[in-house]
Amino acid sequence: MPDDKKDILFRPWKKLKSLQERNLRLFVTKHLYPFSPYYRRLFDKNKIKPGDIKSVEDLKRIPFTSKKDLVAVSDEEAARKNLDFILQPNKELIKKYLPKSELLKILCVKILKGDKYLTACLGKEYRPVFLTATSGTTGQPISFLYTKYDLDNLMLYGKRIMEIFKVESGERAVNVFPYAPHLAFWQTAFAGFSSNLFILSTGGGKTLGTDGNIRSILKVKPKFLIGVPDYVYHILKTARDQGHKMPFLNSIALGASRVPKGFKRKIADILTSMGARGVSVLGTYGFTEARAAWAECPTGIDVSSGYHTYPDKEIFEVIDPGTGEVKREGEDGEIVYSAIDCRGSSVFRYRTGDLVRGGITYSPCPHCARTVPRISSDIVRASNVKNLKLSKIKGTLVNLNNLEHLLDDTEEIDQWQIEIVKRNNDPYEVDQLILHISLSKDVNKEKFTAKLNQKAVSISEISFNKVSFVSKSDIRSKIEIESAVKAKKIIDKRPKV
Ligand SMILES: [Zn+2]
Repeated sequence: MPDDKKDILFRPWKKLKSLQERNLRLFVTKHLYPFSPYYRRLFDKNKIKPGDIKSVEDLKRIPFTSKKDLVAVSDEEAARKNLDFILQPNKELIKKYLPKSELLKILCVKILKGDKYLTACLGKEYRPVFLTATSGTTGQPISFLYTKYDLDNLMLYGKRIMEIFKVESGERAVNVFPYAPHLAFWQTAFAGFSSNLFILSTGGGKTLGTDGNIRSILKVKPKFLIGVPDYVYHILKTARDQGHKMPFLNSIALGASRVPKGFKRKIADILTSMGARGVSVLGTYGFTEARAAWAECPTGIDVSSGYHTYPDKEIFEVIDPGTGEVKREGEDGEIVYSAIDCRGSSVFRYRTGDLVRGGITYSPCPHCARTVPRISSDIVRASNVKNLKLSKIKGTLVNLNNLEHLLDDTEEIDQWQIEIVKRNNDPYEVDQLILHISLSKDVNKEKFTAKLNQKAVSISEISFNKVSFVSKSDIRSKIEIESAVKAKKIIDKRPKV
């Protein structure tokens, strides 16, 4: 597309990197250090001058921020911590911390346009007007605030995502993310506004019910269906079982959860059986703390382009989760995020807790030719790494993602849920994994269980203590597919000591 060439995401990486470092310097000296109470303290405590941070390399000097810096023990503390991360200019801070050149600019505006105008400008740029929060599935929900400036960014990210997806004007989409103050829902709604695309946001299962969502899809005839993987799968499967055809729908965009290849294939198979051709299933990655989401570009079902990032707006690093050492291109590690062009709640060198296999790639995308850094889509979300005590002696960190991939890839399994319990419900006993599954075809249950456990041991060194076969409606209510924000695929029922 000719327009693409003007897009900054196609500029040579060298140019993009210099833009990134320019934005980094401006952000740290003009916004983060002067106006963020948390980061000004952090810089001062570690004797870092904002002017010292000139390049990505210099980030190493800044200590990491992590979820524990955001989480509070009481409501009062939560309010204080929330404020601590918000950029909050006032006259005193402006005078004290802004670079002289910036003060001169402000003075000129004041003389030419007056005090009132200046206050209005600052209000527009820095006053929070919107928020999204973490879903609280991994603990207490944390709010992130947006100013008008950040909403413009959210619009821009939406536009970029739609361009990366290759959405064309006149195409339609249905958004079945649950209606909530969550990034996924709003990022999608804003993507529609900014790319002039018709999106019906149904609010998901809780608002319209599965039948209501299916009716909406049949009425709108969208090319795109956007939502949480498990719920999208549930809608499509129900529609197929009811005998509907959806030849118009061939692009599925999934967010708010990991998307294993096996899962993509399952969705593509259902759509193909309902008359769709050339199906693509696209994953996205995003997190509340960034107030942004990133997308894969269209490829075959078994190939992932990785998530296309926005180097003018952020810096991603991959670090060794144990030592904090920064990894090189393509190496595994934990994803660390720094915002470099935002207002409102701003995090810097933020440890996401998400682990990525294959790290970041800096070469141009072989599928769409964008030159932006791409994060491998093989990501293990922080909430999926659990400390399990499998013997009486010690706890082991278990990556439940490997088991998830296995279950999603197993053809005979329709839906599943893993329950983590304590033996005899005794908090001092060992942990046990119970697997509930509904089947998509008849199997010899004994043989099937043995084979599944054998595979589980080979990929994760653990097996299920019990496999229980349940009906499709039982598993639906267990994972709360209609009502939960994210399907409850892994639940931790261990009693607290
Ligand atoms: Zn691409």
